[in-house]
Amino acid sequence: MWRNAAAKPEYATEDIAVWWDMNDCPIPEGYDARRVRPSIEGAFKKLGYSGPVSITAYGDQTQTPAHLLRGLSSTGVSVAHTMSESTSSSMFSDMVIWRGHRPPPATMMLISNQVADVFSWDLARLQQHTKYNLFLAYSVTSHIWSVLPSSAEWLWKELLMSSADEKVISSKLRAADFYCKSCGYQDEGVVKFRKHLSSRDHAMREIRNPCDWQLDPITRMWGRNYQAKPEHATAKIAVWWDMKDCPIPEGYDARRVRPSLEGAFKKLGYSGPVSITAYGDQRRTPDQLLRGLSSTGVNVAHTIPDVTYTRMYSDLHKWQKLNPPPATMMLISDTTDDFSRPLAFLQQLTKYNLFLAYSYRPYKMSILVTSAEWLWDSLLADTVSETRTHFLQRCSEEGEESTGMFYCKLCDDCDCKNLDDFRKHLSSKEHALEERRFIESKQLSEYEAQLSREASFLNVNYRFSTESSKMHIYLSDFSRKH
Ligand SMILES: [Zn+2]
Ligand SMILES: [Zn+2]
Repeated sequence: MWRNAAAKPEYATEDIAVWWDMNDCPIPEGYDARRVRPSIEGAFKKLGYSGPVSITAYGDQTQTPAHLLRGLSSTGVSVAHTMSESTSSSMFSDMVIWRGHRPPPATMMLISNQVADVFSWDLARLQQHTKYNLFLAYSVTSHIWSVLPSSAEWLWKELLMSSADEKVISSKLRAADFYCKSCGYQDEGVVKFRKHLSSRDHAMREIRNPCDWQLDPITRMWGRNYQAKPEHATAKIAVWWDMKDCPIPEGYDARRVRPSLEGAFKKLGYSGPVSITAYGDQRRTPDQLLRGLSSTGVNVAHTIPDVTYTRMYSDLHKWQKLNPPPATMMLISDTTDDFSRPLAFLQQLTKYNLFLAYSYRPYKMSILVTSAEWLWDSLLADTVSETRTHFLQRCSEEGEESTGMFYCKLCDDCDCKNLDDFRKHLSSKEHALEERRFIESKQLSEYEAQLSREASFLNVNYRFSTESSKMHIYLSDFSRKH
């Protein structure tokens, strides 16, 4: 189970806003509705949060008994009527409005079972930009690995049973508002509210207005290429390039890769130092290309296809440790969910500036929020004449220093300064053994994954360790430390 982290000082006394789906997480039979708020606040207090808490309970309130509505309202819990199908979208749009009024630092809490399925894509994108703290509560534990890092999570029933903050119970709170999301109605009294819900007007409106059950993902409208913000303009740029997804085109001079990238960055106002590492099965890459890359200061890394993502990922993480933001990371890869979801998770914690390039436009928008994206071919084709001079200048200025290194990412401690040593290593017996070991362990983990699928079908707990699940375990560990 998730270990809840103590409040960081910047959030400890700030606002906490709670959006609560009463359908997913109902008030249990016989439970006093007036205890909901003090229980929630008591749980927050245990972690060191003492800021003002606003709570709104969403659901089909025609089904909620009057005494529960009264109990909630009397303890300052707002009640919102929604048609069941539109509860999530209503919660989400209210959350977006709240974010518009209340800049971070502050804490948001979702009490819902729909977080992984409904909220996570847009919320994970929003969270890559802004520093809101996130709490979650649910009645059913999701089996999907969540892309949203939270600082605290609770099971709904345990949350309600947690020792209530007695101060809240004794203090007099202003009675909260009642809303009807179908009609835009707002009032204070429970009697009037119930009368509204049973009115003909209300019924007609719910029939006439088909409910918007889908979220309105506000980040979908965000553009692609932005000018550099001042803090990024001269900061470092690190590039991890998957040569299998985005190869050097036939007949293209490898020495032009770096100047083409730097030219594209410059157009957007980025002029910081650029480091590039090219990943791929380098036994198959012609010498001429490797020499061309290395001579322009591009590092070359040998991997095999199945481990490229994890090697790029762990190198990215090592780089992050040495280079705190502001700085820019760029991925040249047709990023799959396997890669982009863990990175989106990490980005919500670290908030680097991010670029992407890919060989084709993804058919759906990535969960990663970027400040610039390019098609690989057009990135290489662009700005050549202008960048060529830039590149020549660089070479004459920096001379030997601009030579890239050669790494074997399968063997430990294989960093070569020149191509001949690298080639010698790649054709060595030691390397062949190591590569064979990787392929065998991959076959084994595929076999284990299959076992695990069968085990889950039989409802047996079984842990396997593929490269990607290792990444997820590592990430949840990472988020706890942050
Ligand atoms: Zn209404
Ligand atoms: Zn090797």
